[in-house]
Amino acid sequence: MRTAGPWRAGDRRTFAWTTGLGLAGLVIGYWGASGTVAQSTQLRWTALAVAGVAVAGLGNAVWLAAAARDVRARRGQMSVRLSMALAGAEKSAQLAPPGARDYAHLPRAEGQGAAASTAGGGSGVGVVTAEGMTHYHRPDCLMVVGKTVREGTGRKRPCPICRPG
Ligand SMILES: [Zn+2]
Repeated sequence: MRTAGPWRAGDRRTFAWTTGLGLAGLVIGYWGASGTVAQSTQLRWTALAVAGVAVAGLGNAVWLAAAARDVRARRGQMSVRLSMALAGAEKSAQLAPPGARDYAHLPRAEGQGAAASTAGGGSGVGVVTAEGMTHYHRPDCLMVVGKTVREGTGRKRPCPICRPG
């Protein structure tokens, strides 16, 4: 069963056990050392307390490593889902009729028709940009969907997503 946090039940058990052992080591070490004036005996009890701290520290490290592992896995799943969603959106953008697009009103190369306007890739024909954008795009790029655009590169850089021209 998936819990809300990044930890599994086994991680929680390990954390609880190591923390409990560490605390027990500290308490018993304190209790033992406080009951004697012989330094060598106190040292042995102190060693027990130090071992308890080490066990608790190890348990904490395992606990944090488990969380980091889960976060990494979730990030991987998220990027797969995101790229699938983007691929789906791209496909539906290609299926949409050209008349429904926001760039349909843009001026075309005079007398040349659509074929010429796409043939001149890189010269600013067949690409669009908008005020405030740092890149120019293909007209069907997701980055310009729903935005008021004008034709041309606007002396901007090509979009790294749709890679125009
Ligand atoms: Zn783009």
